[in-house]
Amino acid sequence: MSTFANMKSNRQSMMDTVRNAVEKSQNDSQSFQDDRFWYPERDKGGNGFAVVRFLPQSEGETVPWIKYWDHGFQGSGGWFIENCLTSIPGGKCPACEHNTALWNSGIESDKDIARKQKRRLRHVSNIYVVHDPTNPQNEGKVMLYRYGKKIYDKLSEAMNPEFKDEIAFNPFDLWEGADLKLKIRKVDGWPNYDRSEFDERKPLFEADSELEEVWGRQYKLEEFLSPEKFKTYEELQVSLARALGQSRDVGTIEETTVEQQEEVVLESPGAKFSRIETTTESPQLNIDKQNAGDGKMDYFARLAEDNQ
Ligand SMILES: [Zn+2]
Repeated sequence: MSTFANMKSNRQSMMDTVRNAVEKSQNDSQSFQDDRFWYPERDKGGNGFAVVRFLPQSEGETVPWIKYWDHGFQGSGGWFIENCLTSIPGGKCPACEHNTALWNSGIESDKDIARKQKRRLRHVSNIYVVHDPTNPQNEGKVMLYRYGKKIYDKLSEAMNPEFKDEIAFNPFDLWEGADLKLKIRKVDGWPNYDRSEFDERKPLFEADSELEEVWGRQYKLEEFLSPEKFKTYEELQVSLARALGQSRDVGTIEETTVEQQEEVVLESPGAKFSRIETTTESPQLNIDKQNAGDGKMDYFARLAEDNQ
């Protein structure tokens, strides 16, 4: 039998192989999530509500947050969801360099693309989940929360109020801080956190023993700035070129693995899925949770849009 005839007669088992590969990749999507992260669920209309308490710096750390930059956009070749190397002192990032070139072209359409692809400031803090109506199992847990500029501004405003009738307070304080009521709406297609506000100031718990127990459950934040959370410049170059549709990794026939078969198959109905496979090693993905509940596509779309 010729190789081609062999292939024809083996189509059913090939189908099984592919199906298994797809299933495997779906299961893999669970493994790159980090269960320590909390995410405010939004309903179908894009609205969300939850109450969280920001927690102080952990033992041995100086501030109750870490900050870093990332990129999250979809190019013609797929998603680019990566931590930005400019987060590390002296680090150079190919995506930022690409954006600078687009911006400097002076062409308005290039500038629009640069805006879409620009790096985004992220923060991570420990929180105590006070009220989570969508996922009540989170209530009472100490979790990690990744947030953007809007929430950071709320925290900053609490410490440096704009108006004379407002009293400055430390929202990370266990005794004199306050719960943050997160109110999320969809505005112009994007999640909007403007309506979020602090509740009245009060201790998280009355008894110091309870507060100490909560503090003892906090996670160290320094790990999110460790080098292994970042791809190298060269790895980011490859990832960026793929997302921009500038190149494709095609193995030789001999080297084709199940993963690559899967990529080729998934390429045809929509290029997005194949790109998702290529980004599963992203450190960004290791530090989120719960987002994959609606499937991988939503997970990536949400990572990309969530620029609160
Ligand atoms: Zn960058």
